[in-house]
Amino acid sequence: MSKITRMLRLTRSAIFLLGIRIYNTDSAKMSMWSHLILGTLLLVSTSWSQPLVLDEAAAITYLEEYDRLAADMSYQYAEAAWKYETNITEETLANMTEWSLKRSDFNYREAKNASRFDLSKINNQNISRLLRKVMDIGTAAFPDTVKLEKISDLEGEMTSIYSRARGCLNTTTCLPLEPDLVDIIANSRNYAELTAAWKGWRDASGRNIKKLYPEYVSLLNEAITFEGKYKDMGDYYRSSYESPTFENDVKALFLELAPLYENLHAYVRRRLKEHYGADKFPSTGHIPAHILGNMWAQDWTNIYDLVAPYPDKRTVDITKALIDQNYTIIRMYKVAEDFFSSIGLYKMPHLFWEKSLLVKPVNREVVCHASAWDFSNKRDFRIKQCTALTEEHLLTVHHEMGHIIYYLAYKDLPYLYREGANPGFHEGMADIVTLSFQTPEHMKKIGLLDAIPGQNDTEGDINFLFRMALSKAAFLPFGYLVDQWRWSVFRGETKPERYNEKWWDLRCDFQGIYPPVERSNADFDPGAKYHIPGGTPYISYFVSFVAQFQWHKALCKVANIAGPLHRCDIYSNTIAGARLNDMLKMGSSRPWGEAMLKITSGTSGQTDKLSVAPLLEYFDPLIKWLQENNKKYNEILGWDKKNCPNFLSPHILSGSPRVQNITFILTMMSALFSIAISIIEN
Ligand SMILES: [Zn+2]
Repeated sequence: MSKITRMLRLTRSAIFLLGIRIYNTDSAKMSMWSHLILGTLLLVSTSWSQPLVLDEAAAITYLEEYDRLAADMSYQYAEAAWKYETNITEETLANMTEWSLKRSDFNYREAKNASRFDLSKINNQNISRLLRKVMDIGTAAFPDTVKLEKISDLEGEMTSIYSRARGCLNTTTCLPLEPDLVDIIANSRNYAELTAAWKGWRDASGRNIKKLYPEYVSLLNEAITFEGKYKDMGDYYRSSYESPTFENDVKALFLELAPLYENLHAYVRRRLKEHYGADKFPSTGHIPAHILGNMWAQDWTNIYDLVAPYPDKRTVDITKALIDQNYTIIRMYKVAEDFFSSIGLYKMPHLFWEKSLLVKPVNREVVCHASAWDFSNKRDFRIKQCTALTEEHLLTVHHEMGHIIYYLAYKDLPYLYREGANPGFHEGMADIVTLSFQTPEHMKKIGLLDAIPGQNDTEGDINFLFRMALSKAAFLPFGYLVDQWRWSVFRGETKPERYNEKWWDLRCDFQGIYPPVERSNADFDPGAKYHIPGGTPYISYFVSFVAQFQWHKALCKVANIAGPLHRCDIYSNTIAGARLNDMLKMGSSRPWGEAMLKITSGTSGQTDKLSVAPLLEYFDPLIKWLQENNKKYNEILGWDKKNCPNFLSPHILSGSPRVQNITFILTMMSALFSIAISIIEN
């Protein structure tokens, strides 16, 4: 760190600490003085040499210079983060933390510089939007650099615990999440082994993260509320959606989707009972969380073989096809690249092939969670993925490359606009081609399937749609609930002693699943999901799952592709590609409603809002089939939403007076019974 940076930071901290010390005195008089002193000091420290500027031309010059510096800072930070995530050591962590602080300093300084411009006097919408973005720097606006450093340290420590965790199946076998534990949960059909892997992962990850999370929450809230702009960190996360009604809007969407999920849930529950035995299923109607093929029960594709609607109908095993056809990891990426270039979008630049990390290295610890990186210099874009030769990974390759395509589409915009129209758009873009890619039509085109279900092959069609639902519909409640938990924590509604209880309230209520082994507030199961220790907002995935069906429908319509939505493949259709690109190229230069309108305009789904109608249209034949099937077997839809089996609520753990009374009565009765028996026997 340079001397100047250090000095600036020390000055900032000193000013801040002085203010806080005065703030903490009890006297009201002192408090008034302290406000005055702090206010003056902050004024002197920030705007002393910065008179208010009204000139639009000066703003343009400032923004040009900002753009260059910000892109460079972003590049430096990304390099440091990349070094850490591809080689977890104390040194790389320290280096990343240092750059994170430098970036915070930079953002802080520039936010102050931008505040010199009087926005009320700037008529150009674009310039005022850019200036507002410079000023909206989140926690970096917090002047206490010691605490900012602590936030960064905590995040680093939590992701490090998560990435290095080894879940123990027994006293001798302890395995990493990827690939081992993920494989067991995906492929094992042994209830006890699944339970061990599920519990082992949570003991090794969440439980060790638990002690760090409350401080992380409180520091983030302290930092984000400092300026008085946001109520708490959740409020700040939601502000990316530029809508005051966002929270209610997503709730309404979720409620509209509930019938689809409940029908899927009831059907899958019946089929899993056939395999594991009805005794594993509580009378409340919940499904054990660890038998759905995924560590978080968020994607059920891996249990397709157990629950397929028409199991006798030959199904294709894409993973087997990849192995049989001698696919390599690189070829998986080439196949994805081919899809995007076939619709007229971009090829991967040469630095992508040179610098990406596509295979898990053997000699060092890395963050395996797949991600796509923009180094902000218009040339360097990378993917980091511990790629394996499976169908799931082939889809992830398309997903991550979808992010890169978005980066490439908006790379020439001002730095501040190089992001999705909202965070959900980026995830939606990452998924949209997989809706085409997974159609039997497309699988046949690229030789991974030898025949496609014909026009009248309802069984084949239902099997296909069902498999899609195991991934896209099964995810919806999980995508919705992760941030319901986090927002509640940031709001202070859920205190640290109830973190896990709230998590399971939501899991049991929305997903209709329950923990396979006893859980209590001594556990921290949210910490066993990457995005919680990683500090990555999650509602974007829910938004993306809704939006991607809207876009898929729009693209199929503009491309004039006939047939039902679930069989539409936009491969090689450059009209669809151009329409998609029109939206991507906007980045975040306009509010996201305009980007939504850009892609849906002129189609029957034209809108500037989120809508679940296209998703429900896509799954319509399956919804009808599930309803009929559930009726046939007298399945009761849903589950007891007030009950969460296996979660030990605190009053039972600590022994409430009522429980103690019952225990006392039972003990007395048993003693009297024993005496009576011994009298009779004698
Ligand atoms: Zn993604």
